[in-house]
Amino acid sequence: MAEGLSTLLAQEIAALIAAEGPLPLDRFMAMALGHPRYGYYMTRDPFGASGDFITAPEISQIFGELLGLSLAITWQNMGSPGEVALVELGPGRGTLMADALRAAKAIPAFVEALEPHLVETSPVLMRAQGAKLAEAGHEGQWHQTIETLPDDRPLLILANEFFDALPVRQFQHLASGWHERLVGLGPEGGLAIGVAEQPAANIPFSGPAGAIFETSPVSLDIMRRLGERLATQGGAMIAVDYGHAKSGFGDTLQAVKAHQFVPILTDPGEVDITAHVDFAMLAIAARRGGAEAHPLLSQATLLERLGIAHRAEILKRKAEKPDEIDRAVSRLAGTDEHAMGLLFKALAITSPGLAPPPGFETPDPRLA
Ligand code: SAH
Repeated sequence: MAEGLSTLLAQEIAALIAAEGPLPLDRFMAMALGHPRYGYYMTRDPFGASGDFITAPEISQIFGELLGLSLAITWQNMGSPGEVALVELGPGRGTLMADALRAAKAIPAFVEALEPHLVETSPVLMRAQGAKLAEAGHEGQWHQTIETLPDDRPLLILANEFFDALPVRQFQHLASGWHERLVGLGPEGGLAIGVAEQPAANIPFSGPAGAIFETSPVSLDIMRRLGERLATQGGAMIAVDYGHAKSGFGDTLQAVKAHQFVPILTDPGEVDITAHVDFAMLAIAARRGGAEAHPLLSQATLLERLGIAHRAEILKRKAEKPDEIDRAVSRLAGTDEHAMGLLFKALAITSPGLAPPPGFETPDPRLA
């Protein structure tokens, strides 16, 4: 094994580079996360205290409940259509979907009308999702991509920490223009990042010397197509993720293993790799598809507006450890730097003319 090639996937990537030349970062990231045999998500359940990272639905049931109720009300705002697809993109363990379905029972006609659809590429996680849905008394339908989602009914779509897992490309501004950052082989034979010799032709703006422009073409393509779907089929989407409200320069790629940051190239397939989501670009992509994008909210503001404090009080009355509920609420909706409330944001898009989901009616003063 060449030095520095710590995993079987690293060896496969090195062989590919030797044969075809350096890889754009999005190809590297797609292989690291989604390689059919060795990809990070394809082989494991990475969530929770004993895993690599924890997500909002795994912190508290309140997260999924509030989003489920929000979509139930959106369904009523749509005129309570008799058939609707409740879609989740990248559902992880299926916890968000299960919590949303349970809360949706408050509006029985919505539960009658809906059919759960899950867009997921990982066989391990599909199994976990199927078990969670069965517990909740539902059957799901799975899709590898958004293309096969139903086209004969409105869509109500949830996505939590989905877009941050989609591959990004990066370009660095040098004297001769924007050069794509590529994964190649270093002098010792390990994976190393360099830049393309030739500048990219199609970036129509300038930037400070050395600046990095990061973009996720896959994310923008998915968002534009979902915008088209919502515009023609009707419906709404709420996408929650960590990221920034305004586009800017900078390298936001990061890798995490066992709740610690690690270098992105070291152990491909063994570490989670994500990038900040550029919400401004996602909103533009959705509008390009014909949908309406509503003002972005911080997770803190969305959850407060949906009544997280009230729901927490009710759960605490029956809880053995009410402190744990307080801690979960502080983590989800708190605004200090260790909490998720400001770093995470929520974007709502709807078919044109449909009222935004509850909470999204007015802009977020925290993001002003
Ligand atoms: N929403 C869950 C999981 C977030 S992790 C939660 O909040 O806990 C990212 C999820 O997206 C995983 O389920 C992963 O398998 C899935 N995923 C990653 N890339 C994907 C792709 N290209 N298509 C569909 N699902 C993908």
